[in-house]
Amino acid sequence: MEFLDVPTVLKVSALFNLMAALAWLTLAQAFRIAPRAARLMAAAHLVRIASQGCGDCMAAWPVLLQQAIREFGLLACMVLLLLALRRMLRSRQRSHDVAWIAGLGVIGVTLGLASGSGLAPQLASTVSVTVLALLAVREVVRGIGSQLSVAITACMTLPFAALALLGMVHTAELLLVPGADRFTSGALPSPGRAVLWLVITVSITLSLISLMIWRVVTRIQHLTYRDPLTGALNRRAFEQALTEAQAQLQRGHGFALAMIDIDHFKRINDAHGHQAGDAALQHCVRVWQAGLREVDHLARLGGEEFCVLLPIGSPTDLATAANVAERLRSQLAAQPLRWKDIELNLSASFGVALPVAGDAQGEICLARADAELYRAKAEGRNRVCVATQLGAMVAA
Ligand code: GH3
Ligand code: MG
Ligand code: MG
Repeated sequence: MEFLDVPTVLKVSALFNLMAALAWLTLAQAFRIAPRAARLMAAAHLVRIASQGCGDCMAAWPVLLQQAIREFGLLACMVLLLLALRRMLRSRQRSHDVAWIAGLGVIGVTLGLASGSGLAPQLASTVSVTVLALLAVREVVRGIGSQLSVAITACMTLPFAALALLGMVHTAELLLVPGADRFTSGALPSPGRAVLWLVITVSITLSLISLMIWRVVTRIQHLTYRDPLTGALNRRAFEQALTEAQAQLQRGHGFALAMIDIDHFKRINDAHGHQAGDAALQHCVRVWQAGLREVDHLARLGGEEFCVLLPIGSPTDLATAANVAERLRSQLAAQPLRWKDIELNLSASFGVALPVAGDAQGEICLARADAELYRAKAEGRNRVCVATQLGAMVAA
């Protein structure tokens, strides 16, 4: 890599970090997109400029000062990056672990600088940065691993893994190669290392930008398909799921619908106020969601009316659908809502139906489930009524 001019690579890197910092600040201030994460990212890029220098611009400064700026800067940059990552991924993890690792790193660098050793400060900052980079890898895998494909998760994780690997190699080098810890005034990294740092910096930035786009997309999806009060699916999302389930019937995949209406809901509003009614709606959804699988779709169709779309193994498996509805009914009846020191007993009525041969659309099955719901109300509420027509849709 002799054709590479290291000061030029460092200047390109500084320019990139400056532009990235401005871009993150614009996202935070002008567009309010993930503002706290974006501000932390901007700070990380600015600190990186200071810690990396730009070739010989700090050459006239005392060696100790140069080394302090480099090691503390590297550590601070990694801490800011990890905190930004956690915010971006809406991680609930408290940052005590980061504080401990950074604290130990700072003590190590300070003691190393005070002792006049060239090795100790570099070793302390490199080991701390390596551990923080490994934490970043774990954070990304935890944050998106269950929601995105393995390939995408691996791509997002790669820059942090590369940073951790670089840290491990540098640690081994410092410990095993004589003279690797030498730090002289205006010391420059090797061309290979300078380029590697630039590539890792760019890829970490791209990874964070992709995470931010993913976060915005999932937020939009949530706003488009979820009921804002309860978090259940809204009618639009439910209709879409029903159309898809109806199409799947042709391939032998069955489904059942359970229409639900909370009993005497108006009384809750009248006796305890609208806020209590809202809390009751949220409580019902919490209870029902806990009793359903990921593949089941619980939707709020309006007011205090809900519907669950249950994929079932066989198109005629009425018993399973009836059992699920009975379970949801009894779980709600057994879990009163605590509202401002009072207990509100809640119950709901259920109407269950399966699609049958000749149904042109899912809405026909929905009307059948609704008719059963009316029967459950008429028969005294807090019960499950099941349409007796057996599902008979089979592959054409
Ligand atoms: P039934 O057992 O026959 O279903 O009686 P009910 O009182 O539950 O039924 P009704 O349809 O008479 O009342 C439904 C009430 O739900 C009326 C309406 O004010 C209330 N409601 C609808 N949407 C909301 C909401 O978002 N929040 C609250 N708090 N109340 C709502
Ligand atoms: Mg109603
Ligand atoms: Mg009702």
